[in-house]
Amino acid sequence: MTYSYYVRQMFANEVNTHKPTNHQLSVIINHCNANTALAFLLILKSLLMPSSVEFSALPLKSALLENIESLGYAFMTPIQAESLPHILEGKDVIAQAKTGSGKTAAFGVGLLSRLDVSSFRVQALVVCPTRELADQVCKEIRRLARFTQNIKVLSLCGGVPFGPQLGSLEHGVHIVVGTPGRLQEHLRKRSLRLSNLKVLVLDEADRMLDMGFEEAVKDVISYAPTHRQTLLFSATYSDPIRAMSQAFQFKPITVSIEHSHHDSDIEQRFYNTTKGHRLNALGYLLAYHRPESTVVFCNTKRDCHDVAKALENSGFSVQALHGDLEQKYRDQILVKFANKSCSVLVATDVAARGLDINDLQAVINYELPWDAEIYVHRIGRTGRAGKNGLALSLCIEAELPRVKAIEDYQNTTAVWDEVAPFQLNYEERFQPPMVTLWLDDGRKNKIRAGDILGALTGAGGITGSEVGKIDIFDNHAYVAIARDSVDKALTCLKNGKVKGRSVMVRKSL
Ligand code: ADP
Ligand code: MG
Repeated sequence: MTYSYYVRQMFANEVNTHKPTNHQLSVIINHCNANTALAFLLILKSLLMPSSVEFSALPLKSALLENIESLGYAFMTPIQAESLPHILEGKDVIAQAKTGSGKTAAFGVGLLSRLDVSSFRVQALVVCPTRELADQVCKEIRRLARFTQNIKVLSLCGGVPFGPQLGSLEHGVHIVVGTPGRLQEHLRKRSLRLSNLKVLVLDEADRMLDMGFEEAVKDVISYAPTHRQTLLFSATYSDPIRAMSQAFQFKPITVSIEHSHHDSDIEQRFYNTTKGHRLNALGYLLAYHRPESTVVFCNTKRDCHDVAKALENSGFSVQALHGDLEQKYRDQILVKFANKSCSVLVATDVAARGLDINDLQAVINYELPWDAEIYVHRIGRTGRAGKNGLALSLCIEAELPRVKAIEDYQNTTAVWDEVAPFQLNYEERFQPPMVTLWLDDGRKNKIRAGDILGALTGAGGITGSEVGKIDIFDNHAYVAIARDSVDKALTCLKNGKVKGRSVMVRKSL
């Protein structure tokens, strides 16, 4: 991490309460010549602020600490630093921080530290609004749980067959992550029992309320013991969330990290257009900036579909993400977007919110949202982790009041820019840097990313740098390959073996 990153972090409201670590200070002091005054200010600040941002300041088992370090989590994020001490004391906590602030690891570390691994009973339950979110939480907890071999984390979500879930439950599980409907079903059928539950987590609580899960969540909680720790996480804080906390928590500690995006991180521009020219303007922005990864936000499913179709016809590599998609297509779309073999994702707020899509070069509002807070959530997906982001918004005259609301909310003045006409050139395709290959083999056959990488780089003569992200699912896997090397990789996998077996492989369209 760089000096400027630390300085920005220090002066963001977010980290105000944290003491810089020795490493941070040494980075800062190395730059002291030009910035002596700043450095002193920071040191002064550190003396006044008692808490530390290193995970090692927490009373955690050394194996867990080492694992956290191996994940590259050098420091706690603000929400982790604020909430974990209380969580580890066993208190009920209500925590609010924007998407992408590291809430999963906050409760993940909390519940892992309380686990009795020798007892194969469900000791922690995380309730999530959607299957994608549950899958992400599962993944993150499994990564955090790598420090010991035997921790069983199970996802119980709708949209997938019931039977295999029953089988997994019978084998004994420590941590369950699930969506309300499917959890209710298991609880009713007594295939899931919560009598040994120690920690209950309500993740993305605001989203659950939005989706009408209040009654279902209440029902799920009615199966849990009264003596338990209840942690409630939310990206926003509202009266209904407070009411939820009152209903399910005991003397909760409230932790809230105000969202603040720094002007320098995200460049925001607005473009005047008309109804009939909106698509053209969007095409221009994409063709001009050529971002490797962009989410285009639409307000309706219908727009989502139409915009994706139109962009596809213009030669862009694009996928639409909305609530009506079958689960396996949603998984595939997200894999391809994250591994950079699809550059543009057209999404509604409902479909995109909470998803851990990091590292976006640009966010484009095809239409501005009704609410300034939603605008801030949307654009917060770009410019993460100290990188610069681009937030471009199309706006017709009737939507000008929304820009005014955004200006008021952010206390800034909107910067307007102009689009040129977008001339579609059929010869020119906007190709993403990677191509995804689909393999007919997965976790069920104990395939790991290393096996696939090994098959490609061993006999195949592909170099590691030509291989991108590898995603392993239960029965299949995806591997991203640099566009120019994809034929070589296909031949190699078709003729060779992965973990001693032949696999079926094809380009994923
Ligand atoms: P939220 O639930 O608040 O939206 P997530 O828990 O999904 O956010 O975290 C966002 C990203 O930050 C994830 O990719 C996660 O691996 C990463 N992350 C979490 N904690 C840390 C940390 N302490 N240091 C660095 N990265 C972290
Ligand atoms: Mg989350």
